[in-house]
Amino acid sequence: MTGPVWRPWRKAPGWETALDGDGRRVCAVCRSAVRSYTHRLYAAGSRWFERCVGLTWCPGCRVYSGTMVHVPRERVLADALAGLPAAQRERIARSEARLVQFLDRRGT
Ligand SMILES: [Zn+2]
Repeated sequence: MTGPVWRPWRKAPGWETALDGDGRRVCAVCRSAVRSYTHRLYAAGSRWFERCVGLTWCPGCRVYSGTMVHVPRERVLADALAGLPAAQRERIARSEARLVQFLDRRGT
């Protein structure tokens, strides 16, 4: 019996993307559509509240990168982890690779 092959997510800062003919951003290697997710790290009361992390990843190559992005205080970001039990939420939030894996499985 063989299960699905487990391939770990790899952090690859600067992995290359390109624009396809329709102006969609795709992976330069496998041409999968690039996916992304932006989330806040700091509480609303923090002076760093607007400093967020933007994750982008390729579902084909299983590579991802995270960069600091600036999101205005008044913009509400969808929280992909909302609705999860607190323990699971924490477990996922502790690791970028785990978060990307979760987001990618969830599809969006
Ligand atoms: Zn790729």
